[in-house]
Amino acid sequence: MTAPIYEIFSSVQGEGLLVGERQVFLRLCGCNLHCAYCDTPAAREEAAACRVEQTAGGADFEERPNPLSAEEAAEAVGRLARPQPGLHHSVAVTGGEPLLHADFLLELLPMLGDLGLGAYLETNSTLADELVRLLPHLDAVCADIKLPSSTGRAPIWGMHERFLLGLVAVEEAARLDFAKAVVTAACEEEEIETTSRIIRGIRPEMALVLQPVTPTAPDIEPPAPRRMLDLQAVAKRHLPHVRIIPQVHRLGGFL
Ligand code: SF4
Repeated sequence: MTAPIYEIFSSVQGEGLLVGERQVFLRLCGCNLHCAYCDTPAAREEAAACRVEQTAGGADFEERPNPLSAEEAAEAVGRLARPQPGLHHSVAVTGGEPLLHADFLLELLPMLGDLGLGAYLETNSTLADELVRLLPHLDAVCADIKLPSSTGRAPIWGMHERFLLGLVAVEEAARLDFAKAVVTAACEEEEIETTSRIIRGIRPEMALVLQPVTPTAPDIEPPAPRRMLDLQAVAKRHLPHVRIIPQVHRLGGFL
């Protein structure tokens, strides 16, 4: 199997419950959504070449023509991970929307396990069937819940609900699953209510991370800190574990 890959590199996880962990990032091309706040818009398109870091954290990128085979991708990840076993917590499989390449990932993920690396999936939580096929190979899932006020699009609550039902259909105590919602200044309390109710109805103990949007363009407005506290309080009426975590890699100047 082959897939178009945007980049492979080593850095620090800047979002969610694994924030601060060192990971190898494998960013796949293509997405089935079009969020207004998207901070990786170039990865939505199919890139002619993939940029591959040669040494972990060295920012010494080489270009490889797309698509890459699963073996080539595993080799590129291994080149970053092998020199110092234990440095990397896991491989962050991200995008774009990585589940668009489920067949490719079904071939790749066991190879990453052979390297001693866990598999951490970052997904827009819309492709439930693809998730279920991959779950036996995943050690962590960060399930983005897309708020209409952030995406600028119609609500997709039903898709998210189906996705989270798929997540709990294959229970694995050791797997770290959590939900995450990017919040802008336009966020309505009802959106946080709905998100929290959906999670509570499926897996109440699952953590929800509220991530204030990073203003990557002039028209993207983050919420005021006080507003984030209020929205956290709304979510905590329904869920025991709700955290506010901004994008830490941006604060630290990491890739
Ligand atoms: S799902 Fe992610 S990659 Fe796709 S448009 Fe939204 S933010 Fe961008």
